[in-house]
Order: sequence, then C-alpha cells, then structure tokens
Amino acid sequence: MGRARVLVIDDDELIGDSFRLVLEAEGYTVVTAGSGRQALALVDAADWDLAFVDLVLPDIDGLDLLRQLRARRPGLAAVVITGHGSGLRGFAAREAGAYAFLEKPGDMTPEKILTVLANALARRQAEQELEAARQQVAMSEKLSTLGTLVSGVAHEIRTPLTYVSNNLFLVRQRLEQAARSQPELQPLVDEIAGYGKAALDGVARINRLVEDLRRFARRDEGGPVEADLRDVVGVAVDLFRATRRGRIDVRADLRAVPALQVDVGQIQQVVLNLLSNAAEAMPSGGLVRVATRAVPGGGEIEVEDHGAGIAPEAQEHLFHPFYTTKADGTGLGLSICQRIVESHGGSIRFESRPGRGTTFFVFLPAREASRSELTA
Ligand code: ADP
Ligand code: MG
Repeated sequence: MGRARVLVIDDDELIGDSFRLVLEAEGYTVVTAGSGRQALALVDAADWDLAFVDLVLPDIDGLDLLRQLRARRPGLAAVVITGHGSGLRGFAAREAGAYAFLEKPGDMTPEKILTVLANALARRQAEQELEAARQQVAMSEKLSTLGTLVSGVAHEIRTPLTYVSNNLFLVRQRLEQAARSQPELQPLVDEIAGYGKAALDGVARINRLVEDLRRFARRDEGGPVEADLRDVVGVAVDLFRATRRGRIDVRADLRAVPALQVDVGQIQQVVLNLLSNAAEAMPSGGLVRVATRAVPGGGEIEVEDHGAGIAPEAQEHLFHPFYTTKADGTGLGLSICQRIVESHGGSIRFESRPGRGTTFFVFLPAREASRSELTA
C-alpha cells in the first residue's frame, strides 16, 4: 500500500492548509474537512487511515464526532487537536478513542505533527495485527470444538445404524422362511427384498459418511502419522462429494506417492478448503479435478477448477487472513491451508487464468528427503 490517507478536520482553514503542506511533502494523501458533517460524509465515502479532529467545530462537538467516526470505522486512528488541553477533556477524548493529542498552537510544528502521526499509525497497525491474530485463534478454537462434536456424533449415529441393518437382515430371513412354506408369497417377498436392499444401501452410505467424518475429526488426536496421500486425499474427496449438493463433479486422479508423515485431519482440511473454493468459483457447476502424484522430494496434491479465475490484483492478497471476495466468506480458508502446509514443511501455490480457471498445488516433503537435503 502507498502512504497513508489522512483526513484533517478543522474549521480553521489555516490549520487545515498547514497540515496539508506538511503531510503532502511526506507523501501522505491529505483531505481537509471544515465541519463535522463534511467529515462524516468523507468517512462514509472512502477509507482513511487516520483523522486529525479539532475538538471545537461549528456544527458537532468534536468528541461526539470522534465517537461517530470510530463507530463507523473502528479501524480509524484519531488524533485530537485541542486549543485548551484541559485534563478532563483530554481524558474524555481518550475514552472516545483518540490515540494522541496536539495542542494549538504550541504543537503545530512539522516535526511534532509527523511524529504524532507516525506513532498513531504504528499503534493502529499493531492493533490490527493483534485483532487478526485474535480472530484466528477464535476460529481455530471453533474448528477444534467442531472436531470433538463430530467424533461424538459419529459414534452416536453408528450404534442405531447397526440396529437398522441387523433388523433389516432379520426381516429378510423371516420373509424367506415364510415364502418357503407358502410359495404364493414369493412375489411379495421379492418386492419387499428390493425395498430392503435400497434401505441397506442407504445405511452403507451413511456409514461411509460417518467414517469419513470421524477420520476428518481425528485432527483432535492430531500429530503426524505415516500415511498414503492417496487415502488422505481420497477420504477428503468422498467427504466433499457426500456433503456437497449440486452440480459439482469431482474427478479424482490419485497416483502413488511415497509414504509421508502428515497430520491426516489437517491435510484433509486443506483439500476440503481447496475443493470448497473451487466449487464456489463455479456457481453454475462443473468439473473439479483432484490429483496426487510423486514429485522430487515428496508428494504433490493438485486441485483444478474451471471457474472464474483470480483477478491479477487479488492474487497477492489471496493467502492473507480475512481476505475474501465473497459476501459470506471468512477469508480464512487459504490462510489456514498455508499455515497447515507450511507446518508440514511444504508449500502451496496457484496458477490462474481469469475466466478460465485456477489450479492450486500443494507440495508436501518426504521427511527423510527434506532432512537430508537440509543438512546436506
Ligand atoms: P473465502 O473462501 O472465505 O473467501 P479463502 O481464504 O478460502 O476465503 O479464499 C480467499 C479468496 O481467494 C476468495 O474470496 C476468492 O476470491 C479467492 N479464491 C480462492 N480460491 C479460488 C478459486 N479456486 N478460484 C477463484 N478464486 C479463488
Ligand atoms: Mg474458502
């Protein structure tokens, strides 16, 4: 990003102009507002990094304005310009969200203004980073709660499913016995057996889904185990197919990969995140191809879609937490993928042609190979 965007709110034009001179010389973008109403309109219309706010304005009390500005843009840093600097007012200004003060006329020197500005921007950035970290922790807590929930529910579902299949089996047995003694019942028994088979197919599907969910939730047990990447990716693909309605076809082209040490649940989460993104890039449906293959030093997972692609200006932000172009997106999917892949010593990258589609590549190192390469 370029230099920060600064709003100067003061009804004294001389003050506004001198701020502009000082700040523009340093490369900041500066706009001045002579009233509270004008300031609010500017803040609604565009993004600002920092506002200098005069406490005495013709239309709105400066403190009220400050509160309204911070309510509309919680990330806006604010520095208060005050003529009197009374202690009480200063305290109230901090309560209203001011980061710092400049006192008229004593503090109106370029050095003072620039120092206060730089400090306020640094503090704002630190606050933003802290907030991003906080949200990421909250999200991973949510995900691990989900994992515990899933493994509990999976267990509860399997028990009654066993009753269902056992009892269907008994029904068939009894019907066959009955048909042996009363052959005229045979057509009816065949018909009922057909329904029973359909019901058992349904039970088998639920069982598969539950088994996948349980494996998916095994991330709680955590830790790397030696695994065949084809199985790991295969389960994620099955799970995706089972839970995702609609017009997305997934073609899995899973080729042998040397055994890798991976946290199975985490790698499944990576694949699921990439599959969700691929599906979301193709709102009217289509084919997603998932592949695994051996590559020098380890294994590779590839997820290819024929969706909208990624605009060049979006590409550099893709892995940033909270970067999303979706109305209901969290922007966390890819940053979680990247964190997981990097914690495995691997890497993730993509190729995209806007309008044609996107392919993500996940490289995971074979542990021995990466060790010896590192120490070689
Ligand atoms: P979210 O899916 O919640 O938006 P992600 O971190 O998973 O968050 O993705 C961030 C952004 O990257 C998405 O909003 C989208 O703009 C872009 N993106 C990710 N994967 C794809 C893809 N396969 N095709 C097109 N855009 C994608
Ligand atoms: Mg996503």
